[in-house]
Amino acid sequence: MDQAAVRAGAFAPGSQHHVLALIRSGVAQTRAELARITGLAPSTVSTRVDELISGGILEEAGNGRSTGGRRPRVLRIRADAGTVAAVDLGANHAVVALLDLSGGIITQRAFPLDIAAGPDRVLAVAAESVRVLVEALPPTQRLLGVAVGVPGPVRAGTGTVESPSRMPGWNQVDVGALMSSLVGVPVLVDNDSNLMAVGEFTMRAADAPNMIMLKAGTGIGCGVIASGRLHHGANGAAGDISHVRVTGGSEVICSCGRVGCLDAVASGAALVRQLHREGHEVADASEIVRRARDADPAVARVLRHAGRMTGEVLATTINFFNPNALVIGGQLGLAEPFVAAVRSAIYELCLPMAVKELTIDVSRAGSAAGVLGGGHLMLDQLFAESDEDGSALIAR
Ligand SMILES: [Zn+2]
Repeated sequence: MDQAAVRAGAFAPGSQHHVLALIRSGVAQTRAELARITGLAPSTVSTRVDELISGGILEEAGNGRSTGGRRPRVLRIRADAGTVAAVDLGANHAVVALLDLSGGIITQRAFPLDIAAGPDRVLAVAAESVRVLVEALPPTQRLLGVAVGVPGPVRAGTGTVESPSRMPGWNQVDVGALMSSLVGVPVLVDNDSNLMAVGEFTMRAADAPNMIMLKAGTGIGCGVIASGRLHHGANGAAGDISHVRVTGGSEVICSCGRVGCLDAVASGAALVRQLHREGHEVADASEIVRRARDADPAVARVLRHAGRMTGEVLATTINFFNPNALVIGGQLGLAEPFVAAVRSAIYELCLPMAVKELTIDVSRAGSAAGVLGGGHLMLDQLFAESDEDGSALIAR
């Protein structure tokens, strides 16, 4: 079930929000299905639907399957009634995308951007990139919200970055407020792994109501989907496996000041450092992936070790959480030796019952996972906050 469908349970039965959530999630497509699911009288459903159509948020799109009489009209969200933007900030690059109101990506672009340039510079570049993309759309398709993913912890329910490892100048910065002042619309901020988890979840929702998304890039972290919802934990630290201590990493000092953290031995940044120490010139995680494809033995060896360490940590979380799916994403997820080592560590170390239903898979959304998830979360928020007939969403 889609995130929106799960959220539908949070709305008053038969309210406009409920009707919109049922249509957005694909659970209901026609007035008859809406009446059956909500328990409302068909005339009441028709009134609600007509209001949403005249508000410009729903449209009728062809005919559905007949169950006897006339073929019913299919309802859908008017995709071109607006747009949301999603910005996925990595350590060295950014992906910026626009999505229509049905959650489809309209356009996206990726470019180098150094997160260490600080929040003012980075967010100004990101906001300008959003502006340029929106300008290319028809004027009716206005920007309604922006989601921002950052490669560090975000305090849940706020837009504030808290104690990030590789984001100098960002600690305690309210990214939501800063970005909102630049783009002039509501802004949602979350950790990049969390947004990737939601993005991947939109592509495999029915198969993976309980999912762990591993992002193994310059840094290493997880997003957690529990019972069909993004799980933040008490304050946003859920899924952050980067500072779990691992065996065999005891002498390496981590950015957090402790020794032997997973991030200090298995992240892309750690592998670059290790290869440097061994006399191999490697610029970043993407070069590691390229060299792995060329079967560079030194690179394959460090990737296998990193995968083993990561798999050991994930085995504990899989025994504990019993997910349907582990999805491996980020740059290192493109490197076969890393993925193979994660997989074998998990099958070796997990209880048979914990892996009986488990699918281990590489990311389907790839580099778009973060923007896809950010856009969907922003749409969930906008639809949940819109007025009863969706008018605020359109008039904003
Ligand atoms: Zn650490």
